[in-house]
Amino acid sequence: MGESVEGAVEFEIGGEIVPPGERRIVAIPVSQQVSGLSANLALQVVHGAQPGPVVFVSGAIHGDEIIGTAVIQRLSARLDPQRLAGTVILAPAVNIFGFLQHSRYLPDRRDLNRSFPGSRKGSLAGQLAWTFLEHVIGRCSLGIDIHSAAIHRYNLPQIRIAAGSPYLVELAMAFGAPVIIESPLRDGSMRALAQGREVPMLLMEAGEALRFDRLSIDIGVSGVCRVLAHIGMIEADDGLSHVGIPARANKSSWVRAPRGGVTHRERKSGDIVHKGDLLATVGGLFGEGPMEMVSPIDGIIIGHATLPVVNQGDALFHIAEVAQLEHAGERIGSITEAILASEPEGPAQPLMDEDEVI
Ligand SMILES: [Zn+2]
Repeated sequence: MGESVEGAVEFEIGGEIVPPGERRIVAIPVSQQVSGLSANLALQVVHGAQPGPVVFVSGAIHGDEIIGTAVIQRLSARLDPQRLAGTVILAPAVNIFGFLQHSRYLPDRRDLNRSFPGSRKGSLAGQLAWTFLEHVIGRCSLGIDIHSAAIHRYNLPQIRIAAGSPYLVELAMAFGAPVIIESPLRDGSMRALAQGREVPMLLMEAGEALRFDRLSIDIGVSGVCRVLAHIGMIEADDGLSHVGIPARANKSSWVRAPRGGVTHRERKSGDIVHKGDLLATVGGLFGEGPMEMVSPIDGIIIGHATLPVVNQGDALFHIAEVAQLEHAGERIGSITEAILASEPEGPAQPLMDEDEVI
């Protein structure tokens, strides 16, 4: 590693050398495919002209949750290595196998986000987890992992963090998504592994599987940039300085279909609801026997099913319990307005109503 005039050193990854102030796309071999060809982990390293932290941003750990890919493409265009202090490793499609198949899982039917730390000689999922750990997580002092809801479901853009860490709360507040949720860590997940290695991680949940939507992409791009600015890697973005304070929650409730049939949804993600408020009605094929679904708590809808054809017991709404609910709606409104208004293309239509049933 050689010293540059600015004091930043070269960044070596997967046998590639990235000089300060430059970017490279690198392909790290993961495993051998049926065809005999190598399957690769695709990374872009944006290596700043100035020294600083190493941060990764990852998408499609679940291969059908592709919203992070869109966020990372926009981030790549926005980050200028000449003006960056530190290094950003972008991983737009970590589970490339699932990404190609439009599937959450790998071809060995494993969930990559339950397969950490993995092993070089393990299952396909284990080899991929090990490769990502070895070449990316192990190099970084912060990670931002981007997920979406499952297929036929939409999540309000939100940040999930492990409970009990003031630094994670600080980073999540800097990110500025409408809602911050402190959620438990699952065994084998990237976040659980990262916590064990003391690499702070934010998990963003936003949008729907296999879809891009403008609100999720804009909140993702501006949120990551705000975090990078917060830790001194880029200049603060003036256009986003007046973003509202996110609502915080550590408890949530699922509301399930009381019968099978067809739903007529009255509320959607981002809406503030009070206990007893009508969320949707579910009736039979002719609309017979309609049953009302009401909110069991005061809170914010943070996710909803977009498919109106339901079986009894399907989870149709995810509602977060939020303190000071009366202010939460204003916060969400001000955050989404600030983010949409700050985009160079101008305000756009949030697509949250796209699948509204009438
Ligand atoms: Zn996911």
